[in-house]
Amino acid sequence: MMAPAATALGFELRVLAEGPDVSAVPAVANATVGDYRDLQVLADFAAGVDVLTFDHEHVPGGHLSALVEKGFNVQPGPDALIHAQDKLVMRAAVERLGLPNPGWAEVADVEELAAFGESIGWPVVLKTPRGGYDGKGVRIVADGAAARECADWFGAGPLLAEEKVPFTRELSALVARTPGGQSTAWPVVHSIQVDGVCDEVIAPAQDLDPAVAEAAAAAALRLAEELGVTGVMAAELFETPGRGPGFLVNELAMRPHNSGHWTMDGSLTGQFEQHLRAVLDLPLGATGLLSGATVMKNFLGGPNPDLFAAYPLAMAAEPAVKIHTYGKSVRPGRKIGHVNAVGAAGDLPALRRSAGRAAAIIRDGRDPLKEN
Ligand code: ADP
Repeated sequence: MMAPAATALGFELRVLAEGPDVSAVPAVANATVGDYRDLQVLADFAAGVDVLTFDHEHVPGGHLSALVEKGFNVQPGPDALIHAQDKLVMRAAVERLGLPNPGWAEVADVEELAAFGESIGWPVVLKTPRGGYDGKGVRIVADGAAARECADWFGAGPLLAEEKVPFTRELSALVARTPGGQSTAWPVVHSIQVDGVCDEVIAPAQDLDPAVAEAAAAAALRLAEELGVTGVMAAELFETPGRGPGFLVNELAMRPHNSGHWTMDGSLTGQFEQHLRAVLDLPLGATGLLSGATVMKNFLGGPNPDLFAAYPLAMAAEPAVKIHTYGKSVRPGRKIGHVNAVGAAGDLPALRRSAGRAAAIIRDGRDPLKEN
């Protein structure tokens, strides 16, 4: 999704893809297939570009440090990126900066996990510090007996244990920052998760206390500044009225993020364009809303194996909805695209219905409003 923004600005985008079937390969004219865990592959690729950036956070930090040492321009750099790669490092940084964390502990074994649960109260949330996404690597531990059943998770080192936060909503504060230090924020959004996967985003978050919205954006900008983040960063937050500044930090992502896909149609500057501007150290684009509200709805792989076959139905049913399909093969539960519905804030219920209907038609191959 960075490709259209690069084309519009006349930048040549190259991609190092992990396999020939990766959806970036047909989207980017100059695609190399190679293993991002192989330093030599990374160095060969980096030699041909001005700036190196990422669309996922799994490139080993040690390799990135080696590239920086060789003089390559890596954005964000490994010292920033580690806070999106390792949730234990992130928790410690949030604490160091005096920003609001849930109760948390680094736990080395089931005994420490049980002790944490006894002190903070059950249930607790147990997380692998690295490699998790879409709720994979996150487990709810009900009580001391359940903690003892988590022994298999401790093979690869200490884990992150957190209190189970009684939040009212999940919010996301999306910002961008350049190496020169310019930064911008988009309005704080409400992200709705289903089974640990982002399902829908409402931008801006409705009826959010303006003081909380301002504090949340300020916290994300401060994290970006203090951690030396460049490019787009999402701070995922829990809304906690009456506690802390009204939110707690959940986690950080350093790349264009699912909670920012609404910006592609709903903001003056979409997150993919902003990411390119930021990592190239160009002045950032304005982040205002194009209309009162935008609803982003993901579609996951479902019963319909041929997305394009559903286009005539979806496009005819919801002509105002913008469709973004990722070119991935359809597998159950896999994120394969999203739609955006943009309109007046007063029309939010209708925007949600339209986005939901278009996404459902593409996923299922039939119109939920025309069953039977
Ligand atoms: P991932 O890296 O998979 O996105 P997260 O840490 O964001 O993992 O957790 C996935 C989801 O689990 C969150 O969006 C939230 O719904 C829930 N969750 C995570 N941590 C907590 C917590 N401490 N308290 C309550 N719910 C949580």
